[in-house]
This record gives sequence, structure tokens and C-alpha cells, in this order.
Amino acid sequence: MTGCSTKKRRYKNDIDAQQALNEIKKRAARDKVPIRFYPCSLCNGFHLTSSPGHNGKPKELKLYKLFLKYLHK
Ligand SMILES: [Zn+2]
Repeated sequence: MTGCSTKKRRYKNDIDAQQALNEIKKRAARDKVPIRFYPCSLCNGFHLTSSPGHNGKPKELKLYKLFLKYLHK
């Protein structure tokens, strides 16, 4: 229970994170609110974030496409 160095609230799995996200969306009408959750490689949990797509996912996808290019050569 030491939390995470991101200082964000940690959720143990994506289901918990999604539920928390739904709750926040229901209550918050304006301002910056989390729009999605992402898996954290530091604590192996999940965090909510209001920024769209800054985690490793898009990067991985790009690398994956590059990898496919290599395969087809
Ligand atoms: Zn974390």
C-alpha cells in the first residue's frame, strides 16, 4: 500500500478504474476530468488521466506496424 510515484490514485485492475471513471464522469460537469485510464508500469495498477493518449500504447502500435513492415519485406 505504498502507492505509486505518479502520485495518482491507483486502481488494482481495469474494472475498478473504469468504474471510478464512470463515477467521476457522472458527477463532474466541467473542468478537467479524467477521460480514460491506463495501465501503469511502475505499480502494475491503473490510473486515470485527462490527457488523451500519452502513455505507451500508441508508441507500441507504431512499433508494431514497423515490425509488420519488416515481416513483409
Ligand atoms: Zn502507478
